[in-house]
Amino acid sequence: MRALRYHGPKQPLTLDDIPRPTPHDGEVLVKITAAGVCHTELHFVSGLLNLGVAPLTLGHEIVGRVEAVGPGVPASRVGERVIVYYYQGCGRCRHCLVGDENLCDALRAENGFVTDGGFAEYVAVPTRNAVALPASISDEAAAPIGCGVTTAVHAARLARVALGDVVVVYGVGAVGFGLVQVAHLAGARVIAVGRNPRKLTRAAELGADHVIDGSRDDVAAEVRRLTGGRGADVVFELVATKATMQQSIDALAKRGRLVFVGYSEDSLTVHPIRLVIGEVTVTASVGNTLAELEMAVELVASGRVKTVVDRCLPLERHQEAFDLLAKGQLVGRAVLRP
Ligand SMILES: [Zn+2]
Ligand SMILES: [Zn+2]
Repeated sequence: MRALRYHGPKQPLTLDDIPRPTPHDGEVLVKITAAGVCHTELHFVSGLLNLGVAPLTLGHEIVGRVEAVGPGVPASRVGERVIVYYYQGCGRCRHCLVGDENLCDALRAENGFVTDGGFAEYVAVPTRNAVALPASISDEAAAPIGCGVTTAVHAARLARVALGDVVVVYGVGAVGFGLVQVAHLAGARVIAVGRNPRKLTRAAELGADHVIDGSRDDVAAEVRRLTGGRGADVVFELVATKATMQQSIDALAKRGRLVFVGYSEDSLTVHPIRLVIGEVTVTASVGNTLAELEMAVELVASGRVKTVVDRCLPLERHQEAFDLLAKGQLVGRAVLRP
């Protein structure tokens, strides 16, 4: 089968022919029809994220149809439309025992990170990782649920976004669009920050009460102005450059929570007094749980959250997706169609 392969940091991805996976005990073979391109893939190629596994098929937003089943799986699952939950926890560590597979101490697999992912014609995953998709969501619209919406659901739950909170979403890619919507649904007043006017317009359509152009405005001052000096109860950092982190810290209200979801080459530098006097919390959110993927599918199926797809491309045109994403020119996801 054809697969887009990663060969290590700073190496070009190549479209290779590799063996089609065989579904083992308890697994289904998924014929992939749509796979979203996440910023994480850029971090793999740049070398910022290096998990030491190569060659590897990238892609962790995976949608397709069950084409075959392994031993022990009912044949009735063949033909089912599914979205893949990309973590396969050990099931035994203290994190897995409470459903937090994203923190598992001994992952069995993680599609698109240390195990082959979605930029290929097929993937084999355990049945419990193949979550049924309702007919109301198309394959391409479903792809960004896998990380974009689900990671937003996880981050918003972890940050305990609540009614009346002021929430800043710093960065309006796919996860940012998800956060704007789930924070809005939770009853927060949402301020979206970005540098691309088309993305900010989309954020406003999705429920952002205010938008700030970070390339032009002093973000922290603008957040203070919009909140009568109070600042933000929660700032989600999806960009995390030196400049944006400073703005994010400066935008926080007393008892505010700065939540890292994204990262860059830069490190956070903050004097403790800045945290102490406002009792400010700095925390982070990684990935999502299986329960949150099911929740995200339901949110999209019921129309309360929308996914945003900029364009669909065949695997051969992956470079176009990566280049536009790196330049910040995509409004929502680019989805590859293997
Ligand atoms: Zn575990
Ligand atoms: Zn992702």
